[in-house]
Amino acid sequence: MKTILPGETIGILGGGQLGRMMAIAAKQMGFRVAVLDPTPDCPTAQVADVHIAAAYDDVAAANRLAEVSDVITYEFENVASEVAEELERKAYLPQGSALLHITQDRLREKAAIEQAGVPVSPYREVVTQADLRSAIHEIGFPCVLKTTTGGYDGKGQYVLRNPDDCEAIDKELNGERVFVLEKWVDFDKELSVIVTRSTLGETATFPVAENQHINNILHQTIVPARITESETKDAVAMALKIAESIDLVGTLAVEMFLTKDGCLFANELAPRPHNSGHYTIEACETSQFAQHIRAICGWPLGSTALLKPAVMVNLLGQDMERVAEAIPHLGAAHCHIYGKARAKPNRKMGHVTVLGHTTKEALEAIKALGIWKEELEKVEENR
Ligand code: AMP
Repeated sequence: MKTILPGETIGILGGGQLGRMMAIAAKQMGFRVAVLDPTPDCPTAQVADVHIAAAYDDVAAANRLAEVSDVITYEFENVASEVAEELERKAYLPQGSALLHITQDRLREKAAIEQAGVPVSPYREVVTQADLRSAIHEIGFPCVLKTTTGGYDGKGQYVLRNPDDCEAIDKELNGERVFVLEKWVDFDKELSVIVTRSTLGETATFPVAENQHINNILHQTIVPARITESETKDAVAMALKIAESIDLVGTLAVEMFLTKDGCLFANELAPRPHNSGHYTIEACETSQFAQHIRAICGWPLGSTALLKPAVMVNLLGQDMERVAEAIPHLGAAHCHIYGKARAKPNRKMGHVTVLGHTTKEALEAIKALGIWKEELEKVEENR
């Protein structure tokens, strides 16, 4: 295990907002940062020392990143396997490539979660129309069919409530793609726990976050989650079990469903800092980004203590005009903008975090900003 020292270079695969916030944390600690991303002036390149502008699956470019970096990490899970393997061979990639392999495929991911002794919603593999019928026979309606690879923010997902819904998606089941059919969980809350394990074997979890989605995209995160003490303990224990079972190095976000009767199911894993952990920048003693850098550089982990209750809300492309109007009234709200060139609808452009003495106070301060109106009504309705 190496200790990466200030002045040495951290190479990041992927130049979006997660890479940018990792890079900002790394720069504060005195590291240099190199990033590989095809987009000129991408969010991470704006704060990095070196930008290798090339496609993510360009093995030669990954080798150039390896040459200039003392340690390599990534900000997204869909790293091409040839690139991950090459980096593991030629560079120092303490997180390894095994977890990428697991999280790139929902079936492998569910198997890994079950292997850790953590419950998931009942599921079946589906390739053909006949598979779908027999899976529904076992699992029942409502259920959700998801592509096993490449889906995010609800893309590649079909909610099935009756036989007509099945017929409508039959044409997708042409035997070429693999899907997973999952029983619909009538959840009361969606939660996430971010867990970090360092190259020194030290482990820490961040406070449990309560996440509210609109159209499958994270809208806001409320911390501490408004759940019981024993639910909090169970959620943290689930994340730790998974981290231990997969021999985690780096950061892992575990997304979960909590039902009204207190049952928890793990839904998804992300092998990196996560949108639901952005609140940690202001609300915790150590941010998820600083913790991630510490973990891969062989530094001791920082305290994850919550300094104050917090609400984090995403700024999407369609919110940006109202953000400009709200800036004079931001008060104590922390506004993060990622530096993306174009504000397309539903593109994550930034986020706002408000701290309060209570989550209620923070939620009221968010409302007073006047940036999100219909969205706040929607999350209230869904509660
Ligand atoms: P995913 O891409 O798996 O994170 O799903 C995106 C969102 O869809 C989740 O955050 C949930 O709001 C919803 N969802 C996905 N799977 C299920 C399920 N089995 N039961 C209920 N809601 C689900």
